[in-house]
Amino acid sequence: MQQNVLQTPIEYLKGVGPSRADLLKKELGIFTFFDLVQHYPFRYVDKTKYYTVADVKTDNTEVQIIGKIVRMEERGEKRAKRLIAIFEDETGQLELVWFKGIKWIKPTLKIDAPVVIYGKPSAFANKLNFVHPEMEPLEEHKKSLLKGLQPVYSTTEKLSAIGLSSKGISKIMMHALQHVLPALPETTNAALFNAFKFLPLKEAYKNIHFPVHPEILKKAQFRLKFDEFFYVQLSLLNQKKIQHSTLNGAKFSTLSTNFNTFYANHLPFELTNAQKRVLKEIRRDVQTGAQMNRLIQGDVGSGKTVVALLSMLMALDNGYQACLMAPTEILATQHFAGLKELLAEMDISIALLTGSVKKASRVPILENLKSGELKLLIGTHALLEDPVIFHNLGLAVIDEQHRFGVAQRAKLWKKGPQLADGKWQPPHVLVMTATPIPRTLAMSLYGDLDISVIDELPPGRKPVTTTHRFESSRLRVIGFIKEEIAKGRQIYIVYPLIEESEALDYKNLMDGYDHILADFPPPKYQISMVHGRMKPADKEFEMQRFVKGETQIMVATTVIEVGVNVPNASVMIIENAEKFGLSQLHQLRGRVGRGAEQSFCILMTSHKLTQDARTRLETMARTNDGFEIADVDLRLRGPGDLMGTRQSGLLNFKIADLAKDQQVLHLARKAAEDLLESDPRIEKKENQYIRAEFIKQNKGKVRWSRIS
Ligand code: ADP
Ligand code: MG
Repeated sequence: MQQNVLQTPIEYLKGVGPSRADLLKKELGIFTFFDLVQHYPFRYVDKTKYYTVADVKTDNTEVQIIGKIVRMEERGEKRAKRLIAIFEDETGQLELVWFKGIKWIKPTLKIDAPVVIYGKPSAFANKLNFVHPEMEPLEEHKKSLLKGLQPVYSTTEKLSAIGLSSKGISKIMMHALQHVLPALPETTNAALFNAFKFLPLKEAYKNIHFPVHPEILKKAQFRLKFDEFFYVQLSLLNQKKIQHSTLNGAKFSTLSTNFNTFYANHLPFELTNAQKRVLKEIRRDVQTGAQMNRLIQGDVGSGKTVVALLSMLMALDNGYQACLMAPTEILATQHFAGLKELLAEMDISIALLTGSVKKASRVPILENLKSGELKLLIGTHALLEDPVIFHNLGLAVIDEQHRFGVAQRAKLWKKGPQLADGKWQPPHVLVMTATPIPRTLAMSLYGDLDISVIDELPPGRKPVTTTHRFESSRLRVIGFIKEEIAKGRQIYIVYPLIEESEALDYKNLMDGYDHILADFPPPKYQISMVHGRMKPADKEFEMQRFVKGETQIMVATTVIEVGVNVPNASVMIIENAEKFGLSQLHQLRGRVGRGAEQSFCILMTSHKLTQDARTRLETMARTNDGFEIADVDLRLRGPGDLMGTRQSGLLNFKIADLAKDQQVLHLARKAAEDLLESDPRIEKKENQYIRAEFIKQNKGKVRWSRIS
């Protein structure tokens, strides 16, 4: 019964009818009474509070003031004509200004009569003024006063044209609430209700639309945001538990020769505390017998590779094979070379498999892999192809995860050993990413992954010095590059990749290259170039020349974004830096600052910059902290735009905001964890409302984990 009221089609609401209903559906996606009630105001007009003239500042939003007009006059001619009224209260004076409708406004203004003005203050020639304020005689204002805050709803031109402006919506909202509120079921339990001093749900819905005062509005917002996050988290956590309880992974119960020998004798440095902590988290996972799905987030240069290596050694110590997959050939090759060097003194078979490995070398690799003789395989997507058969793959590491889709991860699972019952045992999966997604967002996005964070850089790193330079300083920048090259350093110069036009990118890059050639003439200077139109082998060749130090300058589009390690490169020049997103800029900057020398990142731009671009550049100059940068990025762009998150339905929150409400998300996440801990199948009497709401929101798709 109750359900029916909430789901009643919107055309049956008083004040709506078929044609308005049609538009509400089309323009705002409102089909039912409950949909309407969930069309929350996006802001409120505060008519509870009065300002005095002396209190008003230009950065106030709308304010209302009681006072009177003491004088008025018209100024200017023709189109510049305006009506100015001097308004005062006991604290001071300000100007009211009208540019339009002067004919109608003027007769309504009375000198010395008490009025209430309402509007947004601005400044003109250092004087406070209100342009086209709302105005009401004080007597009338007192009578008509709506006690409280007034909701402002988003609407569209078409809706406004048929009476559903924000005011119109607030009228039908009152009707809808009358029906919906009595039928609204509670959605929480007594423990949470008391712990968070929640408003009852009915109160929350009433006050989110028509708050009596600002404090109760805050409580209503908290309640509804919390609920929204809570149920998403509950569903994610439940899914994860199902995974844990139904998928078996290899059990790595011991650490022996490989791990211990490497750790004691060949590790070239002391691990940071963050690396140690993450290793412990991995170790804890792989001992349980459940399959591990773990995301390691660590800023560029935080040392994820060695954590991956130590984890792979755990697999080897338990008789399993391990593999590491990178998104590009260059990266895979670098990983292979790096790991081989680290393992040089140890007796471990390791091989590289990429698309360009020739058949003659490929065949023995595949054979040894299948027989189990080959223990470690490093490569690209090529590892996912059908002929690649492992003897017993226990752990797969994926570097720079965002280039791999979910489908590919699934393919990887089938590379594990086949069990007696014919099923596949998926390898443990370790995903490493330097894309700095704020932890709270990661928690929501990768609900099926556990998350470890390496939040500490190895000691002795010198933070990269970042500066923003305009085109007009180019000569000085060129001079600076020459000095650095004279000291033996290497330089990256990066051009943006504009997705819409590959041809244009190419032209940009080539123009840039010509200028660079002119400024850095051979043979004194040697230049490498890498871009998207080149064949992989040519890219590789150019890259290698730079890696070996044969060239001093690497000119590139963003193909070098991910992972490449050339410690001697100490300067990163980013051309048209205003065209890059923050996380991309941060990734690029991560290519330098890898050696002992002080490194520099120079962001080149023209003088024309949007406010957002300015914020990005300032942020880069201010901080090297990837998580702080990610936070700013999230604020600038909203979560929907972050890499790979667009399709995620998880982000379509109605009232909660992942960027602004991270604290609420934390609380909701914790509450959901605690609930599943104490009542894994949500079957206790005291949690009956939560169970009902959970099932409703997941529309019969709920599965419960077997292990409690
Ligand atoms: P990323 O996390 O960006 O993949 P890498 O694993 O490539 O970082 O590590 C960056 C550099 O830091 C490498 O040269 C690596 O050898 C070095 N490194 C990693 N861990 C430490 C440590 N604990 N102390 C000193 N240097 C380290
Ligand atoms: Mg790396």
